[in-house]
Amino acid sequence: MSKYIPLSKPFITSIEKNFAKNAIDSTWISSRGTYITEFENNFSKKFNFAHSVSVSNGTVAIELALNALSIGPGDEVIIPNLTFAATINAVINVGATAVVVDVEEDSPTICPLEIVKSITTRTKAVICVNLLGLNCNLQKIKKICNQFNLFLIEDCAESLGSSIGKNFSGSFGIINTFSLFANKIISTGEGGMCITNSTRLKNRLETIKNHGMSKTKKYWHTEVGRNFRMTNIQAAIGCGQLKNYDLIFKRRESKYKSYLKYLDLEKVIILNPKYGNQSYWLMHIFLNNKHINKRNALLSFLKENQIESSPLFYTFDSMSLYKNHNKVIFSQNLSSSKRFSKQGLFLPLFPELQEQDIKRISSLVNKFLT
Ligand SMILES: *Cc1c(COP(=O)(O)O)cnc(C)c1O
Repeated sequence: MSKYIPLSKPFITSIEKNFAKNAIDSTWISSRGTYITEFENNFSKKFNFAHSVSVSNGTVAIELALNALSIGPGDEVIIPNLTFAATINAVINVGATAVVVDVEEDSPTICPLEIVKSITTRTKAVICVNLLGLNCNLQKIKKICNQFNLFLIEDCAESLGSSIGKNFSGSFGIINTFSLFANKIISTGEGGMCITNSTRLKNRLETIKNHGMSKTKKYWHTEVGRNFRMTNIQAAIGCGQLKNYDLIFKRRESKYKSYLKYLDLEKVIILNPKYGNQSYWLMHIFLNNKHINKRNALLSFLKENQIESSPLFYTFDSMSLYKNHNKVIFSQNLSSSKRFSKQGLFLPLFPELQEQDIKRISSLVNKFLT
């Protein structure tokens, strides 16, 4: 019997363990303590961000960004049809309306032309998702947002470390968000981060995430806030992850490249990044027309062989929950997102994945697609 290979597995070393232990030993186990500011400062330093504000997960990071930009009922937020549901849920949960548009024909990221077509007088923001570690056309989308006076929010949950020119993803929008969930590029267990260049917005994010309490006057509230705080223990793990970040990135990249070596590229499609440099999250492959109907059978076949895999995200228009929701509007043409969704699947990718495992997974995929 071959060993079970999960889709993902966080990379935890003695550094994370020691930092977490220090946090516990200090008894600062809640959301105060020195690791919080250290993690935020080091996160900013590592990726050249002006301000990083830690939060409890990547979903509330998006909600907090929307809160800080005063987006709510009556406002429209443009999002892509193909992404993890946290993106749309955050918009609906702040009371705004999600306007769902297609991705590009040759990149699974939101299409700038479709954004322009969907702008109305109610549009306040665009959330662009750098899906699968692949950047959106960030420069063009940023121009569009400036031209139409819209806020740009980047959902970078899957793209930590991707870049265009000298800028990492997370530096293009007014507020940008990361997830630090266990299957993301680095992890704090649960966790997230909001990034901004604006000192005013940084203060607003910090106030809202801490019950809307004045930063200078205890128990004096200036906003109807939330509690979206990260704990000092999570931040301690995060500090360790940043120390290991270069190694994590290098290993993820080399696993990805091993897949390219072993997969039969006549049978599966690999998406090259269209804008700048990608980061490496889960392995993603796409089936061509000849094999597209075999996807679910391939997923079962891998499962029988002790390999965890999963279909790519389902598009929002395919789920009746969103299709029939009164806070969701779909644009007419969603063909590219539907096609990517049907073609795509995730394969295991994590820093400790072994070369021989990649070889085995790839040869099973190659063998199945005949
Ligand atoms: C993972 C993910 C999120 C949500 O992050 P959580 O930390 O799990 O709440 C949001 N957006 C995208 C695109 C994601 O992949």
